Amino acid sequence: ATSLLWLRRDLRRRDHPALLAAREAAGDAGVAVAFVIDPQLWEHCGPVRRRWLAETLRATNETYDGRLVIRVGDPRTVIPRLAAEIGAASVHVTRETTPFGVRRDAETARMLADDDIAWVETGTPYAIGPGVVRNGSGDPYKVFTPFARAWREHGWPEPALNPRALDLLDVDSDATVAKLLDEAIAHELEDDLPEAGEAAALKRWREFLERVGDYGTDRDLPAKDGTSKLSPYLKLGVLHPRTLLADLAGLGNRRDKDGAETFETELAWREFYADVLHHQPDSAWHDLRGSLGRMAYDRPDDTVDAWRSGMTGFPIVDAGMRQLLQTGWMHNRVRMITASFLTKDLHIWWPIGARHFLDHLIDGDVASNNHGWQWVAGTGTDASPYFRVFNPVTQGLKFDPSGDYVRRWVPELAHLAGKAAHEPWKHADGYAHDYPEPVVDHADERREALSRYEAATR
Ligand code: FAD
Repeated sequence: ATSLLWLRRDLRRRDHPALLAAREAAGDAGVAVAFVIDPQLWEHCGPVRRRWLAETLRATNETYDGRLVIRVGDPRTVIPRLAAEIGAASVHVTRETTPFGVRRDAETARMLADDDIAWVETGTPYAIGPGVVRNGSGDPYKVFTPFARAWREHGWPEPALNPRALDLLDVDSDATVAKLLDEAIAHELEDDLPEAGEAAALKRWREFLERVGDYGTDRDLPAKDGTSKLSPYLKLGVLHPRTLLADLAGLGNRRDKDGAETFETELAWREFYADVLHHQPDSAWHDLRGSLGRMAYDRPDDTVDAWRSGMTGFPIVDAGMRQLLQTGWMHNRVRMITASFLTKDLHIWWPIGARHFLDHLIDGDVASNNHGWQWVAGTGTDASPYFRVFNPVTQGLKFDPSGDYVRRWVPELAHLAGKAAHEPWKHADGYAHDYPEPVVDHADERREALSRYEAATR
């Protein structure tokens, strides 16, 4: 009988264990490869995020020789219907590990079981499946560094081989799909998105490998292209981390090896947060550490709108928030600074910021994003201590000393040379182009944040 491969966070053809399993199960009968656009999720995506998914789906269709079947609707009914339509004996997926995905998949599997169609999970979007790495007593790790050590010691499988011949079934997509994707792709952007698709992702990765030796020093400077920018591909599984880890292991010279080790550690953060979410699904939207449960937060007001639109009057914060809206991506250092600003300077509970990020980030991922937020907010499992309050001005001066990053994203400050762009208030013409004045006084809000912290933990 035929089999159905349902793609979700694995929009690629190489290094794809679930594809191999579907191919194996089908024998000579052929495999259909499908993606379901769930209107519930689609509606929730901001326009940049939606465009990125649409472009990636188009590219995935090409990767699968024009045979990707795209249907629209609730996957819990769409998938069983499609499986029955093609006479599949089994539906194959890469195991989903987010709370939403796990629930949806369990329900889909139950519906399929009613029709005697098998549900087969093979692999995960991670080098080591969430839940596998445990300490000596069999418990999950709560702190990153020992997790990362155990994760490395555990090791990961080699990349999967490409299937030799793949007999792809020709099944219609929904009639509405072409228009839906066209509309999403028509959303205009000032800056190009990364090129979508597996070939482009691998090209980006190879280019990055040439300069991985500089990663340790350049990765904290938002004005430089010092990071891999692979997160949008990793998010949709266009690349699997296993592929990257295998390439890193093959690097020769010392300098590259150091950069590679730092990069590996960043991938380990991604795996750690997925592991934490697996063990504590509530951590997606609730404080992981209860110790700040009595913390007093403010209700979102105009200052939160200013934060969202990049109009706070703090140059590095505004640069980051505008980069997010315009490109769907933000540099890691600036994610920390903008998140700290919302939680500590504006005293807003972190899920409000996490929601905004998830709507707009093309790499928006509930585990990495929401735990990244909890780290900054001091509520996470292995969080930065609450009293570490980022000063947005000194952070800007330190990590964007040339001011290039700020000028790139905040045109009202483009006339200020060098680091002056970080302190318009110090220059007579600082506000010549209608840049807003700071919405709060950082020193006051820092004191306020610390006194709320003391009150909450007393
Ligand atoms: P690189 O520096 O090249 O790192 C390589 C890869 O390692 C990344 O692609 C990513 O998969 C992983 N990685 C790096 N840093 C982290 C980290 N701190 N936590 C988890 N994984 C990491 N990352 C997301 O992928 N999706 C998100 O939604 C997301 N939201 C974040 C929100 C906040 C508040 C913070 C502080 C961080 C968030 N991150 C998120 C982590 C990090 O900022 C991005 O992964 C990184 O900026 C992506 O750019 P890159 O691919 O060039 O990173």
